[in-house]
Amino acid sequence: MRSGTLPEIELHLTRAPKPKPSGAGLRFGRIFTDHMFIMEYEEGRGWHSPRIVPYQPITLEPSAMVFHYAQTVFEGLKAYRTADGRIRLFRPEMNVKRLNRSCARLSIPPVDERLALEAIRKLVETDSGWVPEEEGTSLYIRPFIIATEPHVGVAPSSSYRFMIILSPVGAYYPEGLKPVSILVETRDVRAVPGGVGEAKTGGNYAASLRAQEEAKKLGCSQVLWLDGIHRRYVEEVGSMNVFFKIGDTVVTPELGGSILDGITRDSVLRLLRHWGVKAEERRIPIDEIREAHRAGMLEEAFGTGTAAVVSPIGELVHAGDRLVIGGGRIGGLTAKLYDTLTGIQYGRLEDPFGWMTDVGGKA
Ligand SMILES: *Cc1c(COP(=O)(O)O)cnc(C)c1O
Repeated sequence: MRSGTLPEIELHLTRAPKPKPSGAGLRFGRIFTDHMFIMEYEEGRGWHSPRIVPYQPITLEPSAMVFHYAQTVFEGLKAYRTADGRIRLFRPEMNVKRLNRSCARLSIPPVDERLALEAIRKLVETDSGWVPEEEGTSLYIRPFIIATEPHVGVAPSSSYRFMIILSPVGAYYPEGLKPVSILVETRDVRAVPGGVGEAKTGGNYAASLRAQEEAKKLGCSQVLWLDGIHRRYVEEVGSMNVFFKIGDTVVTPELGGSILDGITRDSVLRLLRHWGVKAEERRIPIDEIREAHRAGMLEEAFGTGTAAVVSPIGELVHAGDRLVIGGGRIGGLTAKLYDTLTGIQYGRLEDPFGWMTDVGGKA
């Protein structure tokens, strides 16, 4: 599947390009570009007919399996515009590999990784005029696969659709990095080992909404998830991976099957180790965090993910207590990680790990 020539991606350009919004003030995921990528899968025929077409609604049978049993996976990455106008992707091959790992868990046939990468590249090139220029903005890329067989029965679908859509997004922190309050969730759990927590699949997010709503009511922006068995070990924060700086050591939960293997998480670990900062991946009891806080050792905490890159945590709310971290201000290491990652992404800094891929085509 990985060798040989790639099938050609047909290009059908729109005759009615839409007006492009200005990058400043764009809200996340509301506006979509002129084109999308699409290809289909049929049993016996495999993935076929890859093409870029005008962005438009799709038609599915009400019995399409995705609507009933949630056989679906997705990815999220961004294209960044550098000061000299180039457009670049951050570690896109990692997203494509993870897409196929999610597919394996959801019994969805894998896609050719080279074809998926080329589809991302060519679609972004086609809509390169939509990559905003303003500081902190980017073009969010959403690949996803849905089960399309018209059959209300629990079984893997015999047909699928793989699509990629693009959305210009504003700066995540228009007023600069700001620490947020996080509610430690004690009722709901996000995932359990053996479940689908390490796959990027819609059901994980549907199951997280109730806790998220409760957190909002308490003035918190996200929840901190604990493990589903002991309800004791820290897992993730909202839909981000989570890190704590305790004394001079940075800790993050190990990947135990219920945690998403974030690409930002991996990049942060690589940077920390490159800088000689001690970084551990292990189980972290919430009591250890509370104890570190009590002892004055909990210096910094932050979430990581493609959307926010690094999101400082200023406060944890747990069992009625409010634990303020680092005086509610952004920690030095948190800020350095944010500045380094975004510096590499926007081409302000060297790219010592070869993380960036040029899309080609100026606009
Ligand atoms: C996507 C996602 C992340 C972050 O992954 P990145 O590759 O860093 O964007 C973390 N946790 C969950 C649950 C996610 O869906």
